[in-house]
Order: sequence, then structure tokens, then C-alpha cells
Amino acid sequence: MTTLESDPAATTQGDALVVLDHVDKWFGDLHVLQDINISVRRGEVVVVIGPSGSGKSTLCRAINRLETIDKGSISLDGKPLPQEGKALANLRAEVGMVFQSFNLFAHKTILQNVTLGPIKVRGIGKQEAEKSAMQLLERVGVAQQANKYPAQLSGGQQQRVAIARALAMEPKLMLFDEPTSALDPEMIKEVLDVMVDLARRGMTMIVVTHEMGFARTAADRVLFMSDGAVVEEGTPEQFFTNPETARARDFLDKIL
Ligand code: ADP
Ligand code: MG
Repeated sequence: MTTLESDPAATTQGDALVVLDHVDKWFGDLHVLQDINISVRRGEVVVVIGPSGSGKSTLCRAINRLETIDKGSISLDGKPLPQEGKALANLRAEVGMVFQSFNLFAHKTILQNVTLGPIKVRGIGKQEAEKSAMQLLERVGVAQQANKYPAQLSGGQQQRVAIARALAMEPKLMLFDEPTSALDPEMIKEVLDVMVDLARRGMTMIVVTHEMGFARTAADRVLFMSDGAVVEEGTPEQFFTNPETARARDFLDKIL
């Protein structure tokens, strides 16, 4: 395991899909992201773990440009993140995001939730969009619910729809921000199973989660964040069995 130094060269090798290079962000006086250097390779699954308030959500939001950054750069597929307009809308399609709260459109059916983006943003015909959407709903196990409304589904089903909705945009990268934290325990596995399947299919994923089982099964790498900085990284095996920093050990003691 390595304790991270500010050396982007060490982390930008290989076929990088997402690169954060010396990224800093402040909320007023709060230095919420501190010299973040991360490179995620195509097909890699990176789990981000760390105490509440350490900047994990801000990191995810910066990667799909829901937050601006103050210093440094973020690039996707070799290109800097777009700042506005159509290019920004395209970025949001290329980077799928699944949040803790399911954020489905309450007044649209499950099928409509999944076809809306492809039709509006990608300009795909309704029939074709519906066909692909049904395949995705099948894959995440909620095809039977296609004509229902979100409130008629369980939390686990809604979160699986949210994943299908993001996948319908054919993203290059999927960001998951504590996708199972709001779920009842019995529904966590059904969502994690979908994520594990996605990882196996080669999706590039950045996943904020404290689900060790998922990290051990699916993650190539674990990043530990504390107070806005990535303070440690390693394989799940290394990180969970032999954390190097006191901050990581303290944190693991609390959650394990
Ligand atoms: P995490 O996801 O690791 O819990 P966040 O990225 O949500 O952490 O937040 C990191 C810190 O930034 C927290 O102290 C939080 O209160 C603060 N913060 C988050 N969003 C904002 C905002 N829009 N304005 C001011 N402070 C914020
Ligand atoms: Mg968060």
C-alpha cells in the first residue's frame, strides 16, 4: 500500500479514463478537496471510503461537474470537463450518477424514467428507447414494474431503476454515492448484486460505499479520504487487513 504523495505521474499511467490532477476546492474557508490526484483506468472499479464530511460526495459531484473546482483539472477520456452548454449535457450522459436518494421522477412511470434521457438528450426514437429500456429493466430485475410509478416500488427496486436509468445513457463512467445507505438491510444485497454484475461487465466505476463485501468482491482499488484528502490507497485486501495510517485504522475500527 502507498500513502499518496502529490505525484500525478505515479497515478496517470495506463489507459486512464478519468484523471484528477492537483484538484483543490474550497467552500468558503473549508478546504473540502485538498490536492486530489486520482487516475481511474478504463474498466477499473474504485471504492472511495472515509468518514462523513471527508469530501467524498463533493469529489463525485466535481467529476460530473455538479460542483466546480478552484484549482487543478479533471479530464474524462483525455478531454477537460466541459464548462457549459450542450457539451455539459453530454458529459452528464457520459457520467452516470446514482445517489443515496433515488431521485426518480415521481410523476413518470418506471419505463418513462428510463427512456426520457435517451429520447431527449441522445435523440433516440421512442420505440428503440423503450426496447433498450426494457432490456435494462430486465437486467436489473424490475421489468415487471415498468408501468408502475416510483412510489409503488420498494427502495431497492427504485435504486435498481435509477441504475438502469443511468445505464440507458450508455455512460463511460458510473459514479455511485452511497447507493445503499438509505435502504433497508434486506434490500442492500439486491442493489449491490446489480453493481457487482456491472463491474464484471467491465464498467468503469467510482463507488462511495462502506459496504466491505462489495469492496472486497468488486473493487480493484480502495481510496481512503479524510478531511478532504486521499490519505491512503490500496487493494481491498491491503486496505482492510493492513491499513497504514492511524486515521484509516480508527475509521475501520468504528465501522467494522
Ligand atoms: P462526505 O460525502 O464525505 O460526507 P461531503 O463532500 O458531502 O462529504 O462534504 C464535505 C464537507 O463539505 C462537509 O463539511 C460539508 O458540510 C461541506 N459541504 C458540502 N457541500 C457544501 C456546500 N454546498 N456548501 C458548503 N459546505 C459544503
Ligand atoms: Mg456524502
